Amino acid sequence: MATTLDFQQMLRGAALRVTRPRAAVLSAVHAHPHTETNSIIGAVRRDLPKVSHQAVYDVLHALTAAGLVRRIQPSGSVARYESRVGDNHHHMVCRSCGLIADVDCALGEAPCLTASDDSGFSIDEAEVIYWGLCPDCSAAGNS
Ligand SMILES: [Zn+2]
Ligand SMILES: [Zn+2]
Repeated sequence: MATTLDFQQMLRGAALRVTRPRAAVLSAVHAHPHTETNSIIGAVRRDLPKVSHQAVYDVLHALTAAGLVRRIQPSGSVARYESRVGDNHHHMVCRSCGLIADVDCALGEAPCLTASDDSGFSIDEAEVIYWGLCPDCSAAGNS
């Protein structure tokens, strides 16, 4: 489990000034992967009750721009944030309850980053969303 000190170090490593809201937001995103903004605001306010919505939005923007968090937004969902960055992983989304799970990038014969035709692009990211039903929802549907 990362500590406040780790989060301060991550901010410094990304050349961001260390502020309490930044460390708190980073910590909330680490603790709750694929969280939406409102839950992040709730988590941050447990430590810093006076922090404004706008402040949290601004921090999320800065952290995303600095590459410390990744923003994902499956269609039909609000923006969500996670701290697992830089590994080109993908997501599975449940059509019924909206649950999101991580999926590692396909490896081996046809990794995701090897496009069947790259049109001359040098590709550095592939964003794949697998849609379906999570175990709970498919169990509920079958009973
Ligand atoms: Zn589900
Ligand atoms: Zn993820």
